[in-house]
Amino acid sequence: MTALLEIRDLKTYFPINSGILKRNVGFIKAVDGVSFSLEAGETLGIVGESGCGKSTTGRSILRLIEPTSGSVKYKGVEITTLSRTEMRKLRKSMQIVFQDPYASLNPRLTIGYILEEALSTHGIGSNTKERNDMVKDLLQKVGLNSRLVDRYPHEFSGGQRQRIGIARAIAVNPSVIVADESVSALDVSIQAQILNLFADLQDELGLTYVFIAHDLSVVKHISDKIGVMYLGRMVEYATNEQLFNNPAHPYTQALMSAVPVPNPTIKKERIILSGDVPNPSNPPSGCAFHTRCHACMDVCKTVRPNEIELAPGHIVSCHLYDPAYST
Ligand code: SF4
Ligand code: MG
Repeated sequence: MTALLEIRDLKTYFPINSGILKRNVGFIKAVDGVSFSLEAGETLGIVGESGCGKSTTGRSILRLIEPTSGSVKYKGVEITTLSRTEMRKLRKSMQIVFQDPYASLNPRLTIGYILEEALSTHGIGSNTKERNDMVKDLLQKVGLNSRLVDRYPHEFSGGQRQRIGIARAIAVNPSVIVADESVSALDVSIQAQILNLFADLQDELGLTYVFIAHDLSVVKHISDKIGVMYLGRMVEYATNEQLFNNPAHPYTQALMSAVPVPNPTIKKERIILSGDVPNPSNPPSGCAFHTRCHACMDVCKTVRPNEIELAPGHIVSCHLYDPAYST
């Protein structure tokens, strides 16, 4: 069976230019060899601190940012080499929901107009009347009253605006949605409502999600698979169960220790990450996490860890699991 989405060794580097001549002096390796695959209807959660490359990964998959190298296959078709025109046709199938929908909603247009425009741009619906009916349908699908079509973006709350952002994404019948920190700016109770909406729409429409968040507790209930990113690399990739039952990478363990446990009588030891994420233009040698790792060994400072398969589908990049270095 072909995966709906298959990403292999994706790299997105940004040149660093310096001086008045803007000479290239190196690269920020924002995404540095990320691989994963998703079947239709599955969700991959991508987590990591800001600057780890998760948003760039999401945007590179959709070619909103051009990847430097690697392969992105959608239904078996390599999309990194498609022409602009071919890519425009495909855009309908792969949509994005941003963190702040307000920034992407024109304040001078009613939400009815904004959604109708999304439909007409992609040639959906034969006339305005038909599209206006579709817009009302869309609003209901995302849990908003269809009488609100004539309101402007500022008349909605943050959660409602995110519903509008989701309505705009599903308007064109996509199969893949990249949700880039789509609930991060919302209060916890509103977060839960929007996560439920994402889950309901997935069931109803068979959507496949790449769900980006900086917090494991956000992706926990929605993800089938989870990738943990650090400085451009996926340091651990596993199914939801594997990751939560057996977090292997010290970075994952630290993120995990910050997730609240439902039963407060269970004492969890909090692993505090020391320091900030290092500058991505000058990442540490060896294992890029070694400057903050509580389990760091000598070898970690010089040798970059290999990907080790702990169990089928559970991959970790850490010397602790490499028979060559662990004792
Ligand atoms: Fe820590 Fe070493 Fe594993 Fe990196 S390779 S995560 S520094 S133990
Ligand atoms: Mg981001």
